Amino acid sequence: MASRSHRLRQDDKRYVWHPFTQMQSWLHECHPIIEHGKGSTLIDVDGRRYLDGISSLWVTVHGHRKGAIDRAIRAQLGKIAHTTFLGLSHPLAIELAKALVRITPQGLAKVFYSDNGSTAVEIALKMAFQYWQQRGGAFARKRRFIALEEAYHGDTLGAVSVGGIDLFHQLYRPLLFPIWRVPSPYRAPWDRSRRLDPLKRLESLLKRHHDQVAGLIVEPLMQAAAGMLPSPPGFLKAVRSLCSQYDVLLILDEVATGFGRTGTMFACEQEGVAPDLLCLAKGLTGGYLPLAATLATQQIFDGFCAPYEEKKAFFHGHSYTANPLACAAALANLQCFQREQTLRRLQPKIALLRRELEALRSLPHVGDIRQVGFMVGIEMMRDPARGEPYPYEAKTGIRTILEARRRGLIIRPLGDVIVLMPPLSISQRDIVRMVRIVGDSITAATE
Ligand SMILES: *Cc1c(COP(=O)(O)O)cnc(C)c1O
Repeated sequence: MASRSHRLRQDDKRYVWHPFTQMQSWLHECHPIIEHGKGSTLIDVDGRRYLDGISSLWVTVHGHRKGAIDRAIRAQLGKIAHTTFLGLSHPLAIELAKALVRITPQGLAKVFYSDNGSTAVEIALKMAFQYWQQRGGAFARKRRFIALEEAYHGDTLGAVSVGGIDLFHQLYRPLLFPIWRVPSPYRAPWDRSRRLDPLKRLESLLKRHHDQVAGLIVEPLMQAAAGMLPSPPGFLKAVRSLCSQYDVLLILDEVATGFGRTGTMFACEQEGVAPDLLCLAKGLTGGYLPLAATLATQQIFDGFCAPYEEKKAFFHGHSYTANPLACAAALANLQCFQREQTLRRLQPKIALLRRELEALRSLPHVGDIRQVGFMVGIEMMRDPARGEPYPYEAKTGIRTILEARRRGLIIRPLGDVIVLMPPLSISQRDIVRMVRIVGDSITAATE
């Protein structure tokens, strides 16, 4: 076995280019090669077991090897693995669309499938743009988008255009379409660098330019990739009412927050907000297969319905749109939520997680702990009292997660923010273990 894992490791270094990874560092490091999983546990080729503290990058919902989802995929595999959604349909995609319309906020009436969060966002942007173009007249001037600073909406160029994380996005600016960016109110409490009220900025922008604005895109309740920054209460509701007032389409990116991650099925429920377009991916299949959905209102859909020769169709689609295996997983995922009362059973776990995290606040280099439901960011700082961060090259976040790995926990940082986003199915015992390991790892990495 040792020789097999050695060979795999060599071939990984020889042939593979990993995402969001400085490969020069990677070539000198040793990383687990995961071969099995069960529940909240990952098992590598050497038989080492790890707790999955980030739901395999924010996707796993009911745990790995979930019987009901495994069976649903196998059953579909016995029928057909893929059939195109262009010019044809299939039962599970129809059933899933019906289920999604039922569980998402009122007003969302149609489901357009794709296969990842970035494409779900691209589709929402293109739909919003085309909608106003096809309304015609003065509406055709509504061509711009508004997004928040620090936003993350994916890595394809449209999604990067509305993104606001300089480290990831700055270099590509010459390739991107121009947008209007509003300061983000989603900030750590110690960060007083921006005194302008983002809502006031948004309102004055809309007052002046609403006739040029197609849509506004926002991550509800939590800017995740920005470093787990929670929104001030009421912000989303205020944005919704400004969008309605100025005839701007509200696009909610629930790719990270959807499917229970914030404690409710969708984050926007917590402020009673319904968007015009909703982007879903990550947790949609319970973390099994790539599938995404962009939901739209009847009004937007109607804007694309016209006689054939007017050429108003939405000319967008992917080879694997609505892949049947992925739809089977997604339907089984939704059934698990219902059958197992996942959201109800999640509430005491959220409270336990909050209590356990309290113990970390006394660590000398923990600057801030932010939590919305099962989404957590623990920010490490050289001097929290002065708001002084660690230098980038100190790799404090990376060193901390390597300490955690040694202690049997897989996590991944965003800079010096330690992210925790365990599967909703994690046991209370594992929540306690996870937070203890994080505490020990932060201590080991910052001593
Ligand atoms: C992960 C993420 C995306 C991109 O999804 P991919 O499936 O990785 O393309 C978009 N928006 C948000 C908020 C995300 O967290």
